[in-house]
Amino acid sequence: MSGTLYLVATPIGNLGDLSVRALDTLRGADFIAAEDTRVTAKLLRHFEIKKPCVSYYEHNKHASGEKILARLLAGETCALVTDAGTPAISDPGEDLVRLCAQNGVPVVAIPGCCAAVTALAVSGLPTQRFCFEGFLAASGRHRTERLAQLKTEPRTMIFYEAPHKLLRTLEDLLDTFGDRDITLCRELTKLHEETLRTTIRGALEHFRETAPKGEFVLIVRGARPEAEACSEADALARVAQLQREGLSLKDACRQAAAETGLAKNALYRAALDQG
Ligand code: SAM
Repeated sequence: MSGTLYLVATPIGNLGDLSVRALDTLRGADFIAAEDTRVTAKLLRHFEIKKPCVSYYEHNKHASGEKILARLLAGETCALVTDAGTPAISDPGEDLVRLCAQNGVPVVAIPGCCAAVTALAVSGLPTQRFCFEGFLAASGRHRTERLAQLKTEPRTMIFYEAPHKLLRTLEDLLDTFGDRDITLCRELTKLHEETLRTTIRGALEHFRETAPKGEFVLIVRGARPEAEACSEADALARVAQLQREGLSLKDACRQAAAETGLAKNALYRAALDQG
């Protein structure tokens, strides 16, 4: 009979968030598969767990996955952990779960922290319907196309982001979506945990002044439903308001178009016609 693959969620900062069941599973497994064995070694040391570890990460997942599968098929139990949070969520694990499922090996989740859900819960934005986008492509066509597709996404959106890419992402979000509500969660469960509920423009202003540090989850309000779509008159009023706030006509039209979903050029012409 084959053993079981346990997906063990680990803390995203505060070690107190490791569940009793996670501890029992780590203690009871025959071996642990870890994204970075050095990171996991610290966790195991803290909880005084001695257990053989193998590495399973993005660049060895095919070879290592086959070895782990062979051990599972031979009857051993494996606890899969990543550096933080839930395995298989923007982390290694998805392929191993599929491999086990295809080979009849039971997969059991030991749930715990997930940065996306933790951030969504405190965001103050609608939580009934949401979509998880993980990391955007760093640049290029995939990034621009994905953002363009998301412009009309009505559900609350969840993004992961690294501090050094945050400003660029906020700029791209503003350009594509227009100004919208956003909640930025930084260093969740850690000493310098911070939740900033603002707009995309507000976040840009804030992080241009204060360099972003730590890990971020961005929760962005979805697009307004069609029924609430703006008329041209409303959009022109918004253009006028943005101009009063100091934007050039061109920038105001770009911003209002992004916010309302109306075509930028048509709005620009209408604004010129209006004089
Ligand atoms: N599997 C993990 C989970 O369940 O949350 C996510 C792993 S992904 C490689 C790492 C990203 O998660 C970070 O870049 C950041 O966006 C987010 N993240 C992880 N820990 C976080 C924390 N303590 N505070 C805010 N964001 C965090």
